Amino acid sequence: MDIVTVKDKRFRLSIPAQELQQAIRRVAENITEDYAGQQPLFLAVLNGSFMFAADLLRRVELPCEIAFVKLSSYAGTDTTGAVRELIGLNTDIEGRPVIVVEDIVDTGLTMQHLLGLLQARNPKSVDVCTLLFKPEKLKVDLDIRYAALRIPNDFIVGYGLDYDGFGRNLPQIYTIIDETADNQ
Ligand code: 5GP
Repeated sequence: MDIVTVKDKRFRLSIPAQELQQAIRRVAENITEDYAGQQPLFLAVLNGSFMFAADLLRRVELPCEIAFVKLSSYAGTDTTGAVRELIGLNTDIEGRPVIVVEDIVDTGLTMQHLLGLLQARNPKSVDVCTLLFKPEKLKVDLDIRYAALRIPNDFIVGYGLDYDGFGRNLPQIYTIIDETADNQ
């Protein structure tokens, strides 16, 4: 299905499942190689990263742990700029190599804030692993070690990413094509 409607907006297929899986496999291989001999703690940022985290972790061949945290500032199709607090980090990260797993880095503000909160807990290291990266939108100086796919500056849904809470279950990534579903 190349066109889908999520709530009141239409989206077209932009990253098919096969391309997603290929990119995820590549990142998993890089992490497996780079972290050889270590036992990283993956911190998956909910809600958006749940599908990516599941597929990524299946392919990482290392002794590792995963924990889920929440830190969200997004409503509808626009960044609010406001950042909420970190919820759910019950694991001690002091002295540990941490890999943050995100769905998408857009302005980078969310990630920058999260990295600040994590650094305060004295981990051994923190690397960022994001499924998607919009380089044109980046507003802050951010070191993104792993970015599976670079995408243009359009609003997307699917594969964990939502539009107003819907569309997360789509197995592929779709890009917005118009403002309303019934204007054509
Ligand atoms: P940032 O702080 O980097 O601007 O925004 C990061 C968060 O915004 C992501 O974790 C994600 O929840 C949301 N976001 C950014 N771009 C998109 C997009 O194109 N589609 C959706 N569904 N969420 C996005």
